[in-house]
Amino acid sequence: KVRVRFAPSPTGPLHIGGLRTALFNYLFAKKNGGDFVLRIEDTDQNRFVEGAEDYIIEALNWCGIPFDEGPGKEGGFGPYRQSERKQLYKSYALELVQKGKAYYAFDTADALDQHRKDHEAKGKTFIYNWHNRLKLANSLSLTNEEVKAKIAAGEDYVIRFKSPENEELLLQDSIRGEIKIDSNILDDKVLFKSDGMPTYHLANIVDDHLMQITHVIRGEEWLPSLALHTLLYDAFGWDAPQFAHLPLIMKPVGKGKLSKRDGEKGGFPVFPLTWNQSEGYREAGFFPEAVVNFLALLGWNPGTEQEIFTLEELIGSFTLERVNKSGARFDPEKNNWYNQQWLQIKTDDELAEIYAVELQKKGISAESGYIVQVVSSIKERANFVKDFWALSDYFFQSPTSYNEKAVKKQWKEDTPEIMQQVAEVLQDIEEFESSKIEETVKAWIAEKELSFGKVMPPLRLVIVGDMKGPHLFDIMALIGKAESIGRIKAAID
Ligand code: GLU
Repeated sequence: KVRVRFAPSPTGPLHIGGLRTALFNYLFAKKNGGDFVLRIEDTDQNRFVEGAEDYIIEALNWCGIPFDEGPGKEGGFGPYRQSERKQLYKSYALELVQKGKAYYAFDTADALDQHRKDHEAKGKTFIYNWHNRLKLANSLSLTNEEVKAKIAAGEDYVIRFKSPENEELLLQDSIRGEIKIDSNILDDKVLFKSDGMPTYHLANIVDDHLMQITHVIRGEEWLPSLALHTLLYDAFGWDAPQFAHLPLIMKPVGKGKLSKRDGEKGGFPVFPLTWNQSEGYREAGFFPEAVVNFLALLGWNPGTEQEIFTLEELIGSFTLERVNKSGARFDPEKNNWYNQQWLQIKTDDELAEIYAVELQKKGISAESGYIVQVVSSIKERANFVKDFWALSDYFFQSPTSYNEKAVKKQWKEDTPEIMQQVAEVLQDIEEFESSKIEETVKAWIAEKELSFGKVMPPLRLVIVGDMKGPHLFDIMALIGKAESIGRIKAAID
């Protein structure tokens, strides 16, 4: 059975890149009838941030991609927080020492610093590996007795992986194919730290194995760890999962990876939800469907022109074969477009419900049926529900001011008199609906031999306060006869 995991470290807000990783894992699991596991990688206590785990879970739920197993959702492979599994890892590190695949190292931080400096002075870089491990303080250079004595004396030690010398490593990645690596460039990574905690590498491999993870789908920034991870599976004698490294997400303009800073500079939020003071996608008014939609296309393509996908459709179409190798450019403008598209897909009832909450915050209460009609007449022009107010304020309140430029252009000496007459014409309309109003006003204009330009623009100005908005007779029908006449009177008095 396919089992994938999203394994964030709770060190802060979930970024777009992390959320994309979660989404691709979710899609792959659902496509293949598998399980989507959430594992919290919190072995680095220094970087732990209170609340980050809840935030991650909330973000996944908001996007509609909940996990099947994880903290609070036991699935037979828990606990799902590495901090709650910490007593488990040491025996695995010791197993590798026993097999001769790892070793104790006693070098102090100062000693390692000195080695680094000495190398630098000679224009070299210090790498802790086969090259010089025998000159350093570890169980490969010391005798058994010396090692035992040091441990007995309570000296700090770490356990390092013994990376192989002069081997050509063949690594497999589902997206990139076969990758060749010269083992001589690898350093002997620490697997187990002096504070009694495993490093990311050890805990990650042990847990993926114990949790029976079949596919590891993660960001390209982890590709450099693939050699060590592959070697670790070999060293334990375990089958490795299939790896897939997702392409980097690139800055909207220029070169390089998307970073938190791009959010601030570009005036758009990178975070999907609020984190402390940052505005997130949710607060910016994005629909979860739009976020999922644009994330899916960051590095994956359906092989067709289709751009709008529901989550169900994504599950149906998703394959790792269609994930691109090259970086995916993050495009805030396009993200807005996705939201605009999703806004048109939503029903007027759904949109009205969201809008009603915003109106209430402004102290405006209106009948839900009325809000639905307003939404229906203006939604085409909006990217976000938060755009609605600027497009529809005049449906809920009389103009508080009139666009000055428009007044200068449209308001003539005879306008008040004409408006007064329009008000009288409106007064006589029995059935105050759009086509009736239009018919009557037009007939009256013809009868009076007036021009349209003398009537319609100033009429819009008094009703709306500006030259904007949908069909004027639709607006008048919606706000009603009394209100329409009232606005005319207010303008000419
Ligand atoms: N804890 C790692 C992270 O924060 C997980 C990397 C992986 O998926 O192996 O991204």
